[in-house]
Amino acid sequence: MSDLRELYQEVILDHSRHPRNFGKCPTCNRDAKGHNPLCGDRITVELDLEGDTIKDVHFQGQGCAISVASASLMTEMVKGKSVAEAKKLFDQFHTLVTGGEADGADLDKLEVLAGVRDYPVRVKCATLAWHTLAAALEGNHIQVATE
Ligand code: ZN
Repeated sequence: MSDLRELYQEVILDHSRHPRNFGKCPTCNRDAKGHNPLCGDRITVELDLEGDTIKDVHFQGQGCAISVASASLMTEMVKGKSVAEAKKLFDQFHTLVTGGEADGADLDKLEVLAGVRDYPVRVKCATLAWHTLAAALEGNHIQVATE
């Protein structure tokens, strides 16, 4: 189990130091901003939404390692997915990090963030990107806060 924890830690550190899909998105047509005042994390999520498909997704911002790694992992997971699939993934991810049983979930690499369930403050860091994504799926230029 400790090997697994170390592996998870490495994945989180890797994604926080070298975030994927980070930076401006030239083709994106939706965006939302998220703020987690408890930790100070700020994020902007941009989407290239074509019909019902998330063709591309980028993020920008600053925050703790957990918030950045979670955003990076999220972009990898939702790119190419439908809006309904992305929302379902958010539900399952939320269940995972709040300590429930995410049954039938195909969370893949998002599992590395399961450890935050032991740290309620960190749950907001881990879910900030997802709340921001959900806002961008609902409309444009929306601002969300975890508090
Ligand atoms: Zn944070």
